[in-house]
Amino acid sequence: MNTNAHEWVTERFAELKIDALLVSALPNIRYLSGFTGSNALLLVTPGGNTLFTDPRYTLQAAGETFDCAVKTARGPLMAAAAQLIARRRLKRIGFERGRLLFDLWQRLKDALPLGASLKALGPLIEELRMVKTPEEIARIRAAVMANSLAFEAVLPGIRPGVTESEIAAELEYQMRRHGAEKPSFDTIVASGPRSAMVHAQPGAEPVGTNQLLLIDMGATRNGYVSDMTRTLFLGRPGRKISKMYDAVLMAQLAGIAAVREGVTADAVDRATRRVLRAEGFDKAFVHSTGHGLGLEIHEPPRLGKKDKTRLRAGMAITIEPGVYVEGLGGIRIEDTVVVTASGCEVLTPTTKEFITL
Ligand code: ZN
Ligand code: ZN
Repeated sequence: MNTNAHEWVTERFAELKIDALLVSALPNIRYLSGFTGSNALLLVTPGGNTLFTDPRYTLQAAGETFDCAVKTARGPLMAAAAQLIARRRLKRIGFERGRLLFDLWQRLKDALPLGASLKALGPLIEELRMVKTPEEIARIRAAVMANSLAFEAVLPGIRPGVTESEIAAELEYQMRRHGAEKPSFDTIVASGPRSAMVHAQPGAEPVGTNQLLLIDMGATRNGYVSDMTRTLFLGRPGRKISKMYDAVLMAQLAGIAAVREGVTADAVDRATRRVLRAEGFDKAFVHSTGHGLGLEIHEPPRLGKKDKTRLRAGMAITIEPGVYVEGLGGIRIEDTVVVTASGCEVLTPTTKEFITL
């Protein structure tokens, strides 16, 4: 949520050559208006914002929205939006090309008055959302706390014989106990060779001894998310696994050390990759170093090879290098951090020592 957003957006209308912006992505609508319901459109014009929703949300919209007029439509929201566009004689309507279903685009196009046209826009609101307000950072911090407290609460119960699904269920339960409204994504718990799958689904098999156990979890609290990965070992790790863990940890710390306002996203990615290359694991690092997060679990910037976005103070990002070896397993270490002028603040308080159980 950002109460200064309206001005920032409408100031860009001239260069974008639009008279209005129809926002269809729910997280963007929430950011601009506070509305958290599941069915909405937001028409942004220089004169003000109008939120369209349906009668299920009349009370909710009245209670939680800011900076917008609310119109409750009985029919399709697109038709209601098109009516207002006609009444206000708005001509050039921007829409979110990555966020509007073709079906709805078609409906909007068909309902537009004569002389009005549509213009496909890139991730405009997402660009604004990259830098968080102090209020948003406070919410992310609270989500991180729920996340880490839940991890701590579940750790003593992890032992050979419990299943990945049971561990995931406990983690999600404890996150709610600690104030989260839900997990921010499906909790990943992967043991042994299955941990080499970056996005493994927890399974019904009991976890064994002398195995890696990778846990990737996040909490949503007041709409904002956290993201954390820790890799544990059940038993006593051998030399190869210990070496792998040290390499990933060194890479993760190098990534954190590289974060600072003004540095580009791809430079942070290079910092983690450089360490893993020196340790001989660069080929086993198959994803990017991290991503922005906030109202959504994956937001720009992407800390990958091609993203030249300059980091700015107030951006919330993850640093999460990993190494994955088929047949053996995967190790990933992930923290949620906030960019500052001189470096970054690591929000995640959970230890990164190699936890062995
Ligand atoms: Zn994660
Ligand atoms: Zn992540």
